Amino acid sequence: MKTIDFRSDTVTKPTQKMRAVMAEADVGDDVYGDDPTVNMLEAYAAELFGFEAALFTPSGTSANLLALLSHCERGDEYIVGQDAHTYKYEGGGAAVLGSIQPQPIEFESDGTLDFDKITKKIKPYDFHFANTRLLCLENSHNGKVLPFDYIKEASKFCHKKGLLFHLDGARLLNASVKSEMKAKDITTLFDSVSICLSKGLGAPVGSILCGNAVFIDKARRWRKVTGGGMRQAGILAAAGLYALENNIDRLADDHKNAEKLAIGLNTLSSHCQVIENPQTNMFFASFRKDTSQQLCDFLKSKNILISAGDVVRLVTHLDITESDIDYTLKQITDFYS
Ligand SMILES: *Cc1c(COP(=O)(O)O)cnc(C)c1O
Repeated sequence: MKTIDFRSDTVTKPTQKMRAVMAEADVGDDVYGDDPTVNMLEAYAAELFGFEAALFTPSGTSANLLALLSHCERGDEYIVGQDAHTYKYEGGGAAVLGSIQPQPIEFESDGTLDFDKITKKIKPYDFHFANTRLLCLENSHNGKVLPFDYIKEASKFCHKKGLLFHLDGARLLNASVKSEMKAKDITTLFDSVSICLSKGLGAPVGSILCGNAVFIDKARRWRKVTGGGMRQAGILAAAGLYALENNIDRLADDHKNAEKLAIGLNTLSSHCQVIENPQTNMFFASFRKDTSQQLCDFLKSKNILISAGDVVRLVTHLDITESDIDYTLKQITDFYS
């Protein structure tokens, strides 16, 4: 029987069609620049996201790290959300490997960073201080879509303050599909953007980093330095290309499924509370504390995986269908009745 896994959209497995294009991919040594499929993916992504160049990276963590290493020097600083992936969930890589200091700021409830709070943290040019070099945003953030007007303001703000502007767009396509916008209308407001192929898009491995040609040259060097130069990577790039060509529009189905799950959970309001209604494919719900572990175990026995805890992150993706949502809601209802 199938497992319905709500823990993350990273759990998707390549479909037969995706596996077929992987098996047939034309490959070469990408460290020599000889892999035609990687080159095709990079050109396709650069065009799709509106940049001069793109780089295929082993992970989103790698793409964000390469961005920071390429934009910043030792002794520089980047401003970032306190709960941002690039600050909190990447092992402090920019500090560990780049001597780049993070300056975290609390996110506002909509996933934006407040311009007054940012301004207060920008350090004057003085040898006492790190050089404030870059602002990093995340879209979507915890499933929330950053308001487009805010991004436009932030882009202007960065120009005015002389800051570089990076987007951790691990789930940018969820945001653009939700807003019914072209991805490049959002991404081109930034100096660089990282995008995960291995989440809702359904590829097994890899991310894309986009920027201008000089920036991507630097990032390519840092990718090699940090051990991310891959050889016949076209087998993986083929999956990424397939994902970009076929799996973007269908993200809307994941958003619908998340909404359906949230609406269903809301009818069980004495046992469970949806914290905020989902905008994309991810939301949080709190389950009754006294039985939250039992719920998790019970669902596991029914081939449904959710993370443990009182507040649970629920994520939909291409391996979860509408009937899986019906089945899940029925099991949760049974558990509480
Ligand atoms: C998943 C994710 C990343 C990158 O994660 P990897 O597991 O390294 O691919 C970066 N930012 C955000 C917001 C993410 O959700």
